[in-house]
Amino acid sequence: MKEIIDNWKKHSKEEYDENLNYLKSLKGNKYVDSTAADLDRTVFNKVDCLQCANCCKTTPAMVSRPDAKRIAKHLGIPPKTFIKKYLLEDYDGSLMINGVPCTFLNQDNTCMIYEVRPAACREYPHTSQFGFHRRSRMNAKNTLVCPATYEIVKRLKEIYP
Ligand code: SF4
Ligand code: SF4
Repeated sequence: MKEIIDNWKKHSKEEYDENLNYLKSLKGNKYVDSTAADLDRTVFNKVDCLQCANCCKTTPAMVSRPDAKRIAKHLGIPPKTFIKKYLLEDYDGSLMINGVPCTFLNQDNTCMIYEVRPAACREYPHTSQFGFHRRSRMNAKNTLVCPATYEIVKRLKEIYP
């Protein structure tokens, strides 16, 4: 884990442009999605998110209306109250948690609403999901936020040079 984090801290910023161009070059490669999913399993076996939580500390989580309803029910408050108290609405109507670091992040990096957390949190960093090869910009951005994503892209570059 330490090696992955140290590497990410040292190189992710300077390699951003290279990684973005590399990820763009993967578009259309139908084998990349399953390789990325395999690497996701391997890398997340080595990375303990509770020792990191950088996504929760730096990136406001997107919240869908069904997420908001589910979390509000869990908190025992009406959805409208939950939205007003905990979410921001973007210009296009999309909703996100209003605190960075996240309002629901505990000091020990656990999540106060883990069982009912937004789908975007559950699925982050989306490296095991179908369509990985098409999401070059998002994946490149995530190499800056997420040490595991940086490591997955690093290993992909070794497999598909
Ligand atoms: S940034 Fe990546 S490695 Fe860190 S907690 Fe989030 S998903 Fe886990
Ligand atoms: S809701 Fe939980 S998992 Fe999502 S960003 Fe906040 S603390 Fe992290």
